[in-house]
Amino acid sequence: MSRHRIGALGIAAWLALGGAARAETKFTLETMPRIDVHTHIGNTWETLDEVMELRKAIREQLHADLAMFISLGRAEPPDMDELRKRYQGRIQWCISDFTIKDGLRFSPQELTEWQKRGVMGFKFYPGWDRGVQIDLPANDPTFDRMEQIGMVAASPHVANPCGTFGRRTEWFAEPVEFWRQQHAWENVLKKHPRLVVVNAHMLWLCYSDEQLDYLRYMLKTYPNLNVDLATVPIFLHAVGRDNLRAFMIEYADRILFGTDLASKWFVPELDKKFPKIKDKVPQYQRYFEFLETAKEMPSGIKDEHKMRGLALPLDVLEKIYFRNAMRIYPHIADTLKQLGYFGKVESKKAAGE
Ligand SMILES: [Zn+2]
Repeated sequence: MSRHRIGALGIAAWLALGGAARAETKFTLETMPRIDVHTHIGNTWETLDEVMELRKAIREQLHADLAMFISLGRAEPPDMDELRKRYQGRIQWCISDFTIKDGLRFSPQELTEWQKRGVMGFKFYPGWDRGVQIDLPANDPTFDRMEQIGMVAASPHVANPCGTFGRRTEWFAEPVEFWRQQHAWENVLKKHPRLVVVNAHMLWLCYSDEQLDYLRYMLKTYPNLNVDLATVPIFLHAVGRDNLRAFMIEYADRILFGTDLASKWFVPELDKKFPKIKDKVPQYQRYFEFLETAKEMPSGIKDEHKMRGLALPLDVLEKIYFRNAMRIYPHIADTLKQLGYFGKVESKKAAGE
């Protein structure tokens, strides 16, 4: 609907129509909710309180609203009712399997039970060089159930970064293993087309322009595939900036903000200076500046590479920071509404303010 039509109809009538809140809610960089979909926060109340302290520090120092954190484990979920009560949904949880052996850790029945208890999704990690084959038939019943009940594959980590740029360490998988893991994962996506996935780390297809092309192919081919941005800034210096920026805009509906908070791969060079969760404001600042500004900054591995921020448009940032997460995961849209991110704006407008 065009702005013209809105004028003719009157704002109250227009608000009664579906989708009005979305179009009319105006966010700025300061007011928009940001959701970190990829963290590894521990499960003690002390640690979780510290995350809320971090949230407050980010508001005060960066004028940014980190509205919600999704913890992917490894820590087991805390008491889910108590978690909701203490943090009003600002901290969400996923179940996880970091040591896949003879099939995934949760049976179909267990997945359903965990979903009822309110977990967001299931994180699994076949990507370590352990010879784990994610497309083994033993995993199919779990994937079938995830499709049936709509449980999100939350930041599964497939393969490790692979490239010939920069330092080569044990972290980088050799290419044959890297592509074997990539193809095994593609087999899963082919076999389970209704499985909704937010792959971690841009699927690690972000370490050269050619890999980014392959990620384009994957996103085009599998409409339920999405990716998060956790840890990727430390590798993106190897991709052409214009190409990367064009990619982010073209696939803005499929990219979600995530950081790897509390893992040692968040922003390695800064994590040494700011090891405590409540002090990790500069790490978030690095992510925000990379997405929002055109500043030159270190890439984050021993300061050996420079990169320039992407200065993405506001509508793209909204999608990456929260709109895609609202669409893809359960609970998020309701929680944000309950926290007043949309309700207040709507009621003000209804009152004619
Ligand atoms: Zn992670």
